[in-house]
Amino acid sequence: MVQQVNKLGKSDWYMAWYQDDEVLMNSSSGGAFTAIAEVVLQDNGVVFGATFDEKTWDVYHKPVTCIEELNDIRGSKYYQSQAFLAYADCKKYLDAGIEVLFSGTACQVAALKNYLGKSYDNLITVDVLCHGVTSKSVVKKYATAEERKAKQPIKSIAFRQKGLIPWRNGCGASMLLNYTDGTQKVITDGIDSFFLAFSGNLILRPSCYECHFTGTDRISDFTLSDYWGVDDTCASEYNLEKGISVLVVNTDKARDLLNRVSKDFIYGPIDPMERAVPCNLAFTKPPPRNEKKASFFAEYQSTDYDRLIHKLYRPYLIKRCVKQGVKMVVGPKGVAMIKSTFKKLTGGG
Ligand SMILES: Cc1cc2nc3c(=O)[nH]c(=O)nc-3n(C[C@H](O)[C@H](O)[C@H](O)COP(=O)(O)OP(=O)(O)OC[C@H]3O[C@@H](n4cnc5c(N)ncnc54)[C@H](O)[C@@H]3O)c2cc1C
Repeated sequence: MVQQVNKLGKSDWYMAWYQDDEVLMNSSSGGAFTAIAEVVLQDNGVVFGATFDEKTWDVYHKPVTCIEELNDIRGSKYYQSQAFLAYADCKKYLDAGIEVLFSGTACQVAALKNYLGKSYDNLITVDVLCHGVTSKSVVKKYATAEERKAKQPIKSIAFRQKGLIPWRNGCGASMLLNYTDGTQKVITDGIDSFFLAFSGNLILRPSCYECHFTGTDRISDFTLSDYWGVDDTCASEYNLEKGISVLVVNTDKARDLLNRVSKDFIYGPIDPMERAVPCNLAFTKPPPRNEKKASFFAEYQSTDYDRLIHKLYRPYLIKRCVKQGVKMVVGPKGVAMIKSTFKKLTGGG
């Protein structure tokens, strides 16, 4: 179905989505990971991906051997997965001649390759484009603050919950806290204290700010990301609502596998330099270091997480609050008038 291919370096670039509501809603972007993983599982291979343990709150890489278990490793968890625990298992499967798909951040793929020390024809690698991870310890501090407010323990956090706001509006701001009593807290407003800190690059691991794996020259067979920047000129309302992946096919091994994906996986060529790369910093450079990072880490163990974030982000929050208040009072026409008057007064027009 793909008529032409758009290349950047050695890679082919596509926009893609899985045409199945259940897969799409449980995936962070367009479900490209599931389409690739299914091919390997149908060939009796093994798929390694990051899972969340509700008891320990560890995120770690686990092997999945059937399609029914794939949901365990779907979806983005925003803190570091203990992928290294899986490397020895990966090697065992590879040495036994079993096809292995390993999916993680690019640095984890690099570490696996280092560990293996040689290339394997039966290894396929997928990296999810990553602007950085935080740690379990920071997430626990955030959860403790939320538990205190709700007077209820949190069972799990869905960092990218779909269905709360349209994916196009940035579902990174759309989280769900699941409490042990079955209640939930929906977060969609972009000023949640975890979201502010994570997307503001305040709480990332030190190495993320010096990441060697950003850019368009990728280390894995496949690279997956969100297709931020896409709009209704090239995607349907359905997809803008539910998610679209950028699928980067970096090697011939990946090209072969792509020929075997489900017919429900839809993909078409894109020009990477038009929207995919310019709208996604991680295709260009590591995240900038937040100047308040040192203050955060100096205090976060001893201070309430929420209080600390509100202190660090006070100027931003006040500005935002004033903006929204003005919008509510004067309405959209009033806002336009204020903007144009301000432009004139400052010589802008
Ligand atoms: C920490 C993090 C930061 C990200 N930052 C960006 C970004 O800046 N821009 C962007 O476009 N996309 C980013 N993504 C990638 C994006 O959110 C999707 O993961 C990707 O597009 C694949 O989505 P999917 O719908 O195909 O499959 P999904 O089912 O959503 O992806 C599942 C895959 O993600 C992997 N994964 C999930 N959590 C982790 C983790 N903690 N560590 C390692 N692997 C993990 C699993 O191993 C699994 O293979 C990030 C993902 C993560 C985990």
